[in-house]
Amino acid sequence: MQDKDEGYLIGVDLGGTKLAAGRIVEERVVDEFLKVRTQGEAGPVGVARQIIQLIERLVHPGQVKLKGIGVGVPGSVVWKTGVIKRLTNLPGWDNYPLKSVLQDYFQVPVVVENDANAAAWAEFKYGAGEGSIDMVYLTVSTGIGGGIVINGQLLRGTTGTAGEIGHMILNPQGERCNCGNLGCWETLSSGTAIAKKAQKCISQGSKSLISSIAEEEIKAEHVFEAYQRGDEVARLVVDEALDYLGIGVANLVNIINPQKVIIGGGVTKAGPIIFSAVRSKVQTLGYAQAALTQILPAKLQDYGGVIGAAALVMEH
Ligand SMILES: [Zn+2]
Repeated sequence: MQDKDEGYLIGVDLGGTKLAAGRIVEERVVDEFLKVRTQGEAGPVGVARQIIQLIERLVHPGQVKLKGIGVGVPGSVVWKTGVIKRLTNLPGWDNYPLKSVLQDYFQVPVVVENDANAAAWAEFKYGAGEGSIDMVYLTVSTGIGGGIVINGQLLRGTTGTAGEIGHMILNPQGERCNCGNLGCWETLSSGTAIAKKAQKCISQGSKSLISSIAEEEIKAEHVFEAYQRGDEVARLVVDEALDYLGIGVANLVNIINPQKVIIGGGVTKAGPIIFSAVRSKVQTLGYAQAALTQILPAKLQDYGGVIGAAALVMEH
């Protein structure tokens, strides 16, 4: 990872809509970064070909020595074998052996890991989690994903699904989640949840600054913008979402008692209001010393996925 002579590591971040790959030097520096649209309709074989092409563009075959490849994927994977179990928003991937496909092609070590776990590992090693031993990372964007580091190790669980914190049920009378359950955390506090709630209020006739936007175009950032301008509907929606965000973090803090909770993802672009809301909830609901947990913004954001996936190759 450090030395060009030893070769480069490549980190790949496979998303439902975007596919990114980065060439990593000196452990944490992405010296070349490429991003393309994921051709999800081409299925796993087509997307694996896209991944191979991106990697080849980064290593210029024959010119740069490739040392290993880490891939973060949006779903569950048996991390030892690198076989995909299921990907959110990318159908047809069940049981696809992504690790062996890439390993056979490039003849280097390959690690395939859940994308939030990869991002958590990047924050733990090189980001806001540096120096901690126990840490929880969460990403709040279209959904809520997470990764848990205990005693310096990524917690994977018996079957590899540990860290699916977005599916913690906080309101069993709530909305239906993509996972099939009712009232998961991500149906209450994700960017999608905030946008949906605002859409609902407006369709029920509430007057708001957001009313000028076509209902299906309303996004969380519009709601936060209206909130900053003192809009009442936005205030109700944001306050409720942040209330639940804080409750979820307080639950995690009480269960795990980590030194740090790191929060990243698109919704954190709304800034300090997110962190002050979560910190005050943790102060109130944290059990005894658990309330001392530091709640910090993620540092690596867009590059976290590729840095973390590549760093995981070094761990194995
Ligand atoms: Zn769920």
